[in-house]
This record gives sequence, C-alpha cells and structure tokens, in this order.
Amino acid sequence: MSALKAGATIGILGGGQLGRMLAIAAAQLGFDVSIYCPELDCPAARVAARHVVGPYDDPDALLAWARTCDVVTYEFENVPVSAAEALIAAGISVRPGAKPLEVSQDRFVEKSFLKSCGIDTAGFATVEHASDIAAPIERFGGQGILKTRRDGYDGKGQARLGAGDDYEAAHKSLGHAPCILEAMVPFACEISVIIARDVTGQSICYDVPRNQHVNGILRTSTAPANVEPDVAERACAAAKALADALDYVGVLALEFFVLEDGALLANEFAPRVHNSGHWTPEACATGQFEQHVRAVAGWPLGDVTRYHDVEMLNLLGEEALAPPADLLEGAVLTLYGKRDAKPGRKMGHLIRRLS
Ligand code: AMP
Repeated sequence: MSALKAGATIGILGGGQLGRMLAIAAAQLGFDVSIYCPELDCPAARVAARHVVGPYDDPDALLAWARTCDVVTYEFENVPVSAAEALIAAGISVRPGAKPLEVSQDRFVEKSFLKSCGIDTAGFATVEHASDIAAPIERFGGQGILKTRRDGYDGKGQARLGAGDDYEAAHKSLGHAPCILEAMVPFACEISVIIARDVTGQSICYDVPRNQHVNGILRTSTAPANVEPDVAERACAAAKALADALDYVGVLALEFFVLEDGALLANEFAPRVHNSGHWTPEACATGQFEQHVRAVAGWPLGDVTRYHDVEMLNLLGEEALAPPADLLEGAVLTLYGKRDAKPGRKMGHLIRRLS
C-alpha cells in the first residue's frame, strides 16, 4: 500500500477516547475517519465522518465496513485476533496488524514474548487453580499479584496476595479465570516508552514520562521522568526491540518498573496510543495521535522534540464534571464526551506546563 493522500479514509476499530483523539488528529491531516464499534453512542463516533455499529465478532459486517476504508487501525487491544486476521486475509491493510493483538491480549503470552525479545519482567507463573499459587508465591518472597490473563485493565482483574492468604477466595474473586501470579516489584518509580514505528521500520521515541498510578489507575504522567539518562536509553532500546519483533506500524507504549539500582522490569505493552502519552500533543512538535495516523497512513514520522516540561493529570469519574479552578488555571483541558461519570472511569485529562 502506498502512502495515503489527504481525503483517504482511516478506519478505527473501537469508539472510546483514544479513537476520538485519533479521529481529531486524522481530521487535522485531512483524512476522513470511519469508526466501527458495537455502541450506538460513543466518544469517537461523535467526532468522526462515519460510524458503523456492529459487533467485533461479525466478520461479514467487519469486512463490509473495512472495504470502505483505505487502512484499518485499532484503538484498543481487545479486538478479536480472528477479526483482524480475517480482514488481513481479505486483503485489507490492518496496521499495526494481528500479532500485537495476539501477544498483548494474554498476560502470559505477553510476558513470554517480552522475554523472548531480551526484555526483563517480574517473575511470573501461570495459575489455573488456587493450588497453583503457593509454590510461586514462596519463590517470589511471600508476596505477589494475581492477575487474570485476559481482559484486565486499570487495576481490574487483580488481587494482591501475601503468603498464607486465602488463595481460593482470591481466585474466586477473579471468577476462577486463567491467571498469572506476578512477583510484587518494589519499584522506585514507573515509566513508559511511547514509541512510533513507520512502514519502513524507522522508529522514534518520545521523551520518557514518569507515571504515578493510584489503585491501579494512571493518575499522572510527567515528562521528563527525571531518571538517569541510561535508564531512559535502555527503556527506549527495549521498546525498539519489541516494536521490531512485532514488525509494528504505529504508536506503541511499553510500561516499566524502575528499581532503585536503575534496573528495568517491563510490566506490559499497549499496541496503541497510550494514556501516558496524552501530554505529547501539547508539549511536542508532533503528538502521539498525529504520529499514529502518520504511521498507519504510510507517511514519514513527525518530529518528537519536547518544547517544555509537562504534567498530565487524569480526571476520573465526577471529578471531570467540575474540575477545581486551581487545577484548571493555565492547564489545557480535554474531556472525552462520555455520558456516564462512573467512579474511577477516565473522563478527561488536564495538561499543565511545568517549565
Ligand atoms: P497493570 O494493570 O498490570 O498495568 O497494573 C496496574 C498498576 O498496578 C501498575 O502500574 C503498578 O502500579 C501496579 N502493579 C502491577 N503489577 C505490579 C507488580 N508486579 N508489582 C508491583 N506493582 C504492580
């Protein structure tokens, strides 16, 4: 597929806030956007040229939609792998492809893949039954986090465990789903790499942000992360190795725990634009949404120079309905247009310039 021209249609699977910000960036570059998602009313569809409502597991509906697009991308990682594969088999350009979905949808497959790329992770073990927990928890020094292999996000589908806890109750609270047990990491801080890779295999990383999570949900991302330069360099090299191994096209985020001694353990990656990169449109020459659109359109990547230090604050639940005036002052506000401000739900974010 040659580079798309302005006026071409970019199809996005998924209708959430990431799709919405991608659609706005695509429109800015002169593309039309067509959203495919199961919801009638969704944040992305309200800013897109076209919207098709359908389930992700209806290959005929998906293909009919995809044929109206010049390239198809996705804004969330739980698009069924089979759907992406069916589109690719029918000759549709799906960027970044089916493999990143397959790998990132299952925490065990994901961590194994990261290791195969030479990227360290916390210790992990598969858990089918509660009786699988005692041995690894002992190996991990008496503490661990039980996580469902699939479908967990924002701290959901997780239970923290100590030696001697009621493992059966913990596994039951996760619906007895297939899980992994991870060693508890005594991290000094968390960072992420937002990397973009184009169709020719060139890649570029944004300055690495430091991320603070509260109750498993991202609260703030601050750039720069103020880690030693070699920590950021090693994190970027790991993200490049991952993006190359996936023959990735688009923006990808790789999250890390940083230990006191500067060692890095990868936690997970997202095959899409990422919450910890939401500061990039305000602080950098090219934001992550434009960058993803450029990559999937077959365009050269944009400049990622960061012009100032910056902090992003996520607005959760009802917080977003009336952000306090002192938070708003001098900040850039983005609201996602979600109808329902459920507790803990990401409703918008604020970007504040720090320098
Ligand atoms: P996750 O859903 O895996 O991204 O986890 C959400 C957040 O929970 C992470 O960003 C960390 O703050 C915390 N967390 C997850 N896994 C671990 C771990 N193995 N050790 C320590 N903290 C963790």
